[in-house]
Amino acid sequence: MKSMKRVKQLNCLGIESTAHTFGASIVIDNGEICSDVREIYIPHRGRGIHPSEAAQHHNSKAQSVILKALKGAGMNVNDIDIIAFSCGPGLGPCLRVGATVARALATYLNKPLVPINHALAHIEIGILTTNVEDPLVVLVSGGHTAISAFGGNRWRIYGETEDITLGNLFDMFARATELATPGGPEVEKMAAKGCKLIDLPYTVKGNDVAYSGLLSAALREYQKGTPLEDLCFSLQEIAFSMMVEATERSLAHTEKKELLLTGGVAANKKFQLMLESISGLQNAEFHVVDAKYTGDSGVQIAWNGILAFQNGITVKIEDSIVKPRWRLDQVDISWRS
Ligand code: AMP
Ligand code: MG
Repeated sequence: MKSMKRVKQLNCLGIESTAHTFGASIVIDNGEICSDVREIYIPHRGRGIHPSEAAQHHNSKAQSVILKALKGAGMNVNDIDIIAFSCGPGLGPCLRVGATVARALATYLNKPLVPINHALAHIEIGILTTNVEDPLVVLVSGGHTAISAFGGNRWRIYGETEDITLGNLFDMFARATELATPGGPEVEKMAAKGCKLIDLPYTVKGNDVAYSGLLSAALREYQKGTPLEDLCFSLQEIAFSMMVEATERSLAHTEKKELLLTGGVAANKKFQLMLESISGLQNAEFHVVDAKYTGDSGVQIAWNGILAFQNGITVKIEDSIVKPRWRLDQVDISWRS
């Protein structure tokens, strides 16, 4: 009789805490997502994320989120093989909550600790949920606005924001105009009711974009009494066109045959349509991360934890400091060629 040696499955607990969300998830090495629990800090109306308030929120939710993630997966803590955590980039006080919880669990359970770059995790969950192989990536969220493609063992940046992110642009505009938080979905809803294109600054430098001038000009128009619907319509139109121009140029230069949109702003239907249209012109297939995983979650961290651990990446507890400014293009990757 042939002996069949069964390889044990790997269960990774992923912990996310870079900014507004404290999330925990368990993902198996075959890509199965067993649970996804999130608690989101909402700042007081009219204010942005206050780092220590957000950290306080994460502290107060950490235990229940992790217990729910275990329960949702039908597992107990001894079923966990790997603990992965968002190591950066992000807000220092928030990152430290996730890192502290992850270190405590890894020490108590005597399991490997795996540090994850949050931007890379947005890309990896996009790849898992769309099955793309070698995409040009548009990563747009509260913390990131970048165009990237893989080459020479790192994700290289082909264009990025020089100031605020696309998510920040919408969040800051919404805050100043008394729309609800997070701003992106509110701006999207309002934009659907507008139709007049207001003249606002369009700033592309080389292949980079800059949004702070656009934000200030849009707010000046708001003060003058320009209807909010038309302003939201114009803000989306101009901000997205800037990214679309840089993305189309990157597609033409890299000749990638797939375009992957990921991160919180990937939920925006208008942006999806605009990118789909230029993908067609450049003979590239257009893909969007699964709608459930556009925004920050423990899922992206757990899945990236599996990939990193399988490729020998772990960190000793004493070396597991958080890296608030850890760039995507500083991460060496051995699992992609
Ligand atoms: P993340 O940091 O990945 O969790 O993404 C959060 C960001 O995505 C916030 O800035 C939101 O305002 C933004 N966002 C979420 N949904 C939408 C949407 N439908 N349109 C534009 N931005 C969005
Ligand atoms: Mg994010």
